[in-house]
Amino acid sequence: MKTERAYKYRFYPTPEQEILLARTFGCVRFVWNAVLRYRTDAFYQRQETLNVRTWDCPDCGTQGIDRDVNAARNILQAGTALLAGAES
Ligand SMILES: [Zn+2]
Repeated sequence: MKTERAYKYRFYPTPEQEILLARTFGCVRFVWNAVLRYRTDAFYQRQETLNVRTWDCPDCGTQGIDRDVNAARNILQAGTALLAGAES
C-alpha cells in the first residue's frame, strides 16, 4: 500500500535572504512571463503548438532553428536590455 505524506514548514529568512529570494523570484517571474508571451504569440500568429521543436525565421529566412535555444537567446537578450535600462 502506497502512503503519501505531507509536511508543512515555516521559513524565517534573514533580511539578506529576503532580498535574495525577492530577486530570485523576480527573475523567475520575468522568465516565466517572457516564455508565456513567446508561446502565446507562436500559437496565435503561426498556430504553433509545443510539439513543434524547430522554427523558421520569417525575417532572415534561417530554417530549422531549435525552438528552445531560440527562446533562451530571446530571454537573455530581453533580460540584458532590461538590466541595461535599470542601470542607466
Ligand atoms: Zn532571423
